[in-house]
Amino acid sequence: MSEMRRVTAICNGTAIDHIPSGHALQVLKMLRLDVGRSNPISMVMNVPSGKMGRKDVLKIEDRELNQEELDRLALIAPKASVAIIRNYHVAEKRTIELGTELINIVRCSFSNCITQNPREPLPHKLKIISAEPMKIRCFYCGKNQNIDEIVDYII
Ligand SMILES: [Zn+2]
Repeated sequence: MSEMRRVTAICNGTAIDHIPSGHALQVLKMLRLDVGRSNPISMVMNVPSGKMGRKDVLKIEDRELNQEELDRLALIAPKASVAIIRNYHVAEKRTIELGTELINIVRCSFSNCITQNPREPLPHKLKIISAEPMKIRCFYCGKNQNIDEIVDYII
């Protein structure tokens, strides 16, 4: 067993591989695992990767990510591979699919958007215009969202 595997091996939980290098913390924010009471998390950053040059890897103990959480992950790490680990083995592989819209995941960053008005309770709805490069636009006001800042607008 390699040194790295020994450090990051988990008994049960979720392993997220192929996160773009330097984005592991954003992924944690996106999954809202960076605040409050959370599970033990191992983070490995800037690992050499044949596919991507460098990548980050996250392992979250005793937690199996659900599809709603994977949808969030797609915004930061659309090519990540997710494995559910049970008893030190890969029990399930989950694929991440970037949908065509985000409903009540991220709010529009435009301060005059109708969704910012508390008297007009509307679902927060953003359209995914393209995946590479990632382009997201508000369904209501049409404002393009800044991908680098999107973690600051998570609901
Ligand atoms: Zn808007």
